[in-house]
Amino acid sequence: MEIEKNELIEYGLKVFEEVGANEICTVCINSGNTCCQGCKFLSENEGCQKRNTSCVGWLCGLQKQYFAEIEVLDEWEKLWKKIPGKLHRGDVTPDIVKIIRLLNVKHVDKQSGLLMAENLKAFVADGGNLEKLERQLHHKFVMEKL
Ligand code: SF4
Ligand code: SF4
Repeated sequence: MEIEKNELIEYGLKVFEEVGANEICTVCINSGNTCCQGCKFLSENEGCQKRNTSCVGWLCGLQKQYFAEIEVLDEWEKLWKKIPGKLHRGDVTPDIVKIIRLLNVKHVDKQSGLLMAENLKAFVADGGNLEKLERQLHHKFVMEKL
């Protein structure tokens, strides 16, 4: 099926909201570790001013871990892998793209995201370094694919 790029971007953001992944980002950002750091499209207090397919489809180590736990990582990666034109912090994705299907996330309880966010908050409060944890998890997923 075909879908407009902007619709796909909105869909990706909606999935993040629906599965509670945004709660994890909130803890991460509040701890001072955000993947948006230094980006020219980041506006203080307003967030991202130029959504793109690259940043929406990309998952950091923390989110990969969460998506794996709620069993949607494979489907998420398959969906975004096929989207053309993803660039670092931008895209040249065509206005209309082809996808096989969107994810089914109805089974995911948003509370799972809240729970992981609470655990990460406690980790930070105990002196844990989220940036380091994110890198370790990212590395783990990269190694698993080799
Ligand atoms: S690094 Fe991961 S958890 Fe942190 S803001 Fe970016 S996507 Fe969210
Ligand atoms: S373009 Fe990507 S890195 Fe930049 S602010 Fe938006 S989401 Fe963050």
